[in-house]
Amino acid sequence: MPGPPPFSTSPTKVATVPLIAEDCLTAFSRGSKALMTMEHWADGVDRLLTELGPVTGASRVWILQLVEIKPDKIIQDYVFEWASSERYRLLNQYRFRFFASSLDEPEYQRLVEERQMGCRHDFCTSMMPEGPIKRHLENQATLSMASVPIFVNGRWWGTLGVDDCERAVSWAGPGLDLLESAAQMIAAALYRYQLNHRSRQVELFHKVTDCGVWEVSLRNGRAWCSQGLKVALGYPETFPRMPVRRLAARLHPEDRALVWSRLREARNAPEPTQFRLDARVRLADNAWSWYEIIAEMQYNEQGEPVALAGVLVDIGRRKQEEERAQAASERDALTGALNRRGLDRRMMECVATSSRHLILFDIDHFKQINDTHGHLVGDALLEQLADRLQHELRPEDCLIRLGGEEFAVLASDMRDEQAMALADRLRRRVADTPFCVEVPGEGSAVLASMTISLGVARQSRDNAEALGQLMAEADQALYAAKHAGRNTLVAYDATAAERTQSSAAGG
Ligand code: GH3
Ligand code: MG
Ligand code: MG
Repeated sequence: MPGPPPFSTSPTKVATVPLIAEDCLTAFSRGSKALMTMEHWADGVDRLLTELGPVTGASRVWILQLVEIKPDKIIQDYVFEWASSERYRLLNQYRFRFFASSLDEPEYQRLVEERQMGCRHDFCTSMMPEGPIKRHLENQATLSMASVPIFVNGRWWGTLGVDDCERAVSWAGPGLDLLESAAQMIAAALYRYQLNHRSRQVELFHKVTDCGVWEVSLRNGRAWCSQGLKVALGYPETFPRMPVRRLAARLHPEDRALVWSRLREARNAPEPTQFRLDARVRLADNAWSWYEIIAEMQYNEQGEPVALAGVLVDIGRRKQEEERAQAASERDALTGALNRRGLDRRMMECVATSSRHLILFDIDHFKQINDTHGHLVGDALLEQLADRLQHELRPEDCLIRLGGEEFAVLASDMRDEQAMALADRLRRRVADTPFCVEVPGEGSAVLASMTISLGVARQSRDNAEALGQLMAEADQALYAAKHAGRNTLVAYDATAAERTQSSAAGG
């Protein structure tokens, strides 16, 4: 290690601490076993100190835990102690709980720096130069002292030390080796405890957030999944890392391409980018469930992408609510037929259908019906009419309430004659059987006859203006049907329309 050698190795004139190898080995073995087997790591540490104390002949064996280092001071806590006699006991003295030591003294600052670097220390009080450490040892009536730092996962966690109040001995050699081995055992137990604790926290987090964690190595394409996620997907908790393709096969075919393309984008992005998207995942019971995928590329120290990691958040419930809200926003509340927004989406969804007819219809003289029976009966009639006509349609066709008493049917894959036949069937279903409606609040019923006029148009182009054009043409035909005396249907005639247009232009 570069820099000055540790300043405090014990003078050679002092006798080395007398240790009996066999006793030490037995004590160490018992202490380690306690560390590995006791439920709480701290109980194991207590046992280890209790084993080591007597075989070393020390007055005190102690552990200081690092709390915080600031530029001017270090805060530590006196957390474990074994004392050979009650009079040497320091633990639980108020002044040792979270005590601060000034780093203004260069000697003490150097001690702390050396501990941070992993150095072991061995002091004999009487042979030390005057300074804060010697003063401190004298205040504790300590004749000699040795310490080794405890490193947990590469970080200075605290210090294991021994004090001798009856002997001025050097711990150099086997004594410090024994302490160092004990410090490593303690570090291992503590690290294991921390990992267990963290994994419990993580599992709890996954459970309460309905979320699973995953990571895919770019080196070998293998995926790691958290336990909860594995179980949700139907793999045993012990299932090893799996090829990412196996995981990808669980994505819904309609979502897979998008996920892959977003992964590729994230991989090629010039800087770390997080991506989020919703996708359906096949679970253990083969049911599809919506998840939000949140992922981020992981980089090594050279800045090269090494893995893609992220979480899967179960959003099935949220998605269902969204879908329900969307479906509701596309339906007319009175009749349950699609509304204009629903029609727009239908038109967008099936642009590629080979042919599509729009049958536009409007109730004849509905104002009179309202005037005769009242608005509430009018409403009930609209409801019944929609219900009656819905039964005439195939599942793939849809009924739309465009507003007021104006409706439409969008039918796909029909020849013109079939569409006209359907329109005429609708007309007859309204005209041939009167509607029986209860008068709200009166307990009586009225029988109302209605007729509708219909205009039929066929979609002629497959573009963004298609719906507007189709509507305009069907509306023109409907207008003609009204003119022709109502309760009738008219097909839009492009050539006739052209003639009308040119005669209008000719003036
Ligand atoms: P036409 O044969 O020319 O279509 O005659 P009409 O009376 O049906 O046409 P008009 O457009 O003049 O009147 C439509 C009437 O439909 C006006 C309104 O009272 C009624 N109406 C529109 N929306 C509703 C509704 O939601 N409930 C009820 N009860 N009546 C409605
Ligand atoms: Mg009308
Ligand atoms: Mg109208």
